[in-house]
Amino acid sequence: MPIRLFDSLSRDYRELHPAQPDGVFRFYNCGPTVYAPAHIGNFRTFVVNDLLRRLLELEFPDKVKHVRNLTDVDDKTIRRAREESRPLAEVTKQWTDKFHADCAALNCLSPHVEPTATGHIPEQIDMIAALERRGHAYRTDDGSVYFKVSSFDGYGALSRVKERELRVGSALAGKPQTHDADEKEDGSDFALWKGHKPDDGDTFWPSPWGQGRPGWHIECSAMSKKHLGDTIDLHTGGVDLLFPHHENEIAQSQCCNGTLFAHHWYHSEHLLVDGKKMSKSLGNLYTLDQLKEMGHSPAALRYALLAGHPRKQLNFTLEALPAAEKALAQLRAFRAALTPGGNSDPFAPALAALQDDLNTPHALGIVFTALHAGPTGVAPAAFDRVLFALGLDLTEPAKPATATPPEVTDLAEQRWAAKAAKNWAEADRLRGAIAALGWSMLDRKDGYALEPAKK
Ligand SMILES: [Zn+2]
Repeated sequence: MPIRLFDSLSRDYRELHPAQPDGVFRFYNCGPTVYAPAHIGNFRTFVVNDLLRRLLELEFPDKVKHVRNLTDVDDKTIRRAREESRPLAEVTKQWTDKFHADCAALNCLSPHVEPTATGHIPEQIDMIAALERRGHAYRTDDGSVYFKVSSFDGYGALSRVKERELRVGSALAGKPQTHDADEKEDGSDFALWKGHKPDDGDTFWPSPWGQGRPGWHIECSAMSKKHLGDTIDLHTGGVDLLFPHHENEIAQSQCCNGTLFAHHWYHSEHLLVDGKKMSKSLGNLYTLDQLKEMGHSPAALRYALLAGHPRKQLNFTLEALPAAEKALAQLRAFRAALTPGGNSDPFAPALAALQDDLNTPHALGIVFTALHAGPTGVAPAAFDRVLFALGLDLTEPAKPATATPPEVTDLAEQRWAAKAAKNWAEADRLRGAIAALGWSMLDRKDGYALEPAKK
């Protein structure tokens, strides 16, 4: 059964097939801006993309090419480097490494190519120059270059923004575009190249238009062209990127290349936390590290993020994580109970549900119905296939990395000293005190370990 996915451009469900004769499925998704830790809302998008990548791998083995970019130069990264008085490359390397570590903890497959914006300056300049030659771009006095939205008839097809609304383009984008607000001919035009400003410090490159840096949107057009060609099979991202970012990518790529940019567009929905939009002021922008400090495992977060339909808003609460941990324990117990020689596959309908527009709630429902029916006769490979698709790695028990409270460490130190003094009665008393706080002290040859007591 082919994968069927809602297409944001045609607003219809369409099957995914590689369009080019080499049979390679070309998959691009917008990556993170590396200036801070990604939060769980960002990771919802990346986990959904990972689910898609895994389904594509099952459907087109060895024929998937997945490209995901890193935005390592823009207003936010430059501001962060300036605030911390550090070189831009040092800041972006720090947050790139952190992003990779978090993705690995969430069991996300690495993209085949992970290009950076700063690593593709000539490609971006070439594309901007081509747009200028073809009458789709114009220079301004401050050394910037803008895309002329009125030169592309297809503008707005993805986001359905009306002509009238385009006139106030920057307001629609939801963010004030201070950097390029003054010079452009029309409110909806957007920067391809930004002439150097004092705030940019030593972050600039030479170009036919003078020193400056690329605008944000052009990087995805240039990098997808370089690594996947003029036309890609599937372009994805969070719904927040649909306008203006993806609309602008289509305009740039199609005006430069003179051909269709992407056969299929897919957008996953927002994550809410406790029923509210995530924001710094509400303090609900959880990072993976914060959840780990609370004792939750990355596997539980992945499970919780997959529990809701990717194209519907998902309301995340901390209570979802112990429930996810319990579900993972049930899956682990079922896997352990499977024996070689089983040949039934009660999980095929779950895989089919995933292939049908990534219906994760339905798929998980089918999986647990099969679990309740018991492991007898079930083929381990069938279970492993659906686990692979969901990216649920059960090989390691999900061990919450709970920080040891200081009073427990104190008691452990006292008990270690009591043992060294051969004061066994006191050592036993202290063991009891540690247990009363919900911890076990494990004696080793030359030290001890503390872990949460098994319930
Ligand atoms: Zn992008």
